[in-house]
Amino acid sequence: MPKLTIAIDGPAGSGKSSVAQRIAQILGYLYLDSGAMYRALALKALQNNGLALSSHSELEALAADTHIELKPTPPNLVAEGVKNQVLLDGIDVTQAIRTPEVAQAASQIATIAKVRELLVGEQRKAGAGGGVVMEGRDIGTVVFPNAELKIFLEASPEVRAERRWKEHEEKGEHFTLAQVLDEVHERDKRDRERKVSPLIRAKDAVLVDNTAMDIEETARLIVMLTREREKELAKAAGREV
Ligand code: C5P
Repeated sequence: MPKLTIAIDGPAGSGKSSVAQRIAQILGYLYLDSGAMYRALALKALQNNGLALSSHSELEALAADTHIELKPTPPNLVAEGVKNQVLLDGIDVTQAIRTPEVAQAASQIATIAKVRELLVGEQRKAGAGGGVVMEGRDIGTVVFPNAELKIFLEASPEVRAERRWKEHEEKGEHFTLAQVLDEVHERDKRDRERKVSPLIRAKDAVLVDNTAMDIEETARLIVMLTREREKELAKAAGREV
């Protein structure tokens, strides 16, 4: 059975990362977190004190001069909720990119067309072999418009904020739920309203609202959809499953 490309898009806190990682584990696919690339570049920009996040030309130059690599999560870190291992110019930034400050900066630099072009190129290379579950905001619309299965994950803003709040608490980071909800709203607005590659559901994406579902239920539903898709493709190719 040929392996598919699965594109999962959705807003912050929709469970994309956990769900995509679980699907990849069940199917034996490669899991790739495209958001980690935007976060890694944002971290580099924040570390560079003189650089303004509003300076598109400086950020474009920074992106062109940066090497970001996503590696499969080391098995001992999966249980801790770590997604891909992320190397920024060869340095491990896997944990350092998971802060609200980096998330906000990532969504700011993600509005720059040239920066997106560079990172999309890297994402296409990383997922070129198929047998991949990639998650982000524009995977089904821009990165892999021909993906065999596209999912748009949604959940209510309150539930998404609560999930993010719990993740922070587990790491010993204390915010109020209202602070996290504000952060989610702000990032959603920027991601949905930006001119380049806004967060929208691809016409052929299946909408999955997991407000009332947990990670395992959502992942199993998408695995079922994958099996259906495999059957359809096999039938179209004149093969029996
Ligand atoms: O998915 P995550 O929350 O880690 O992404 C951080 C930010 O990176 C998002 O808010 C979004 O602005 C940006 N992003 C994007 N396109 C992607 C993945 C992430 O614009 N494919």
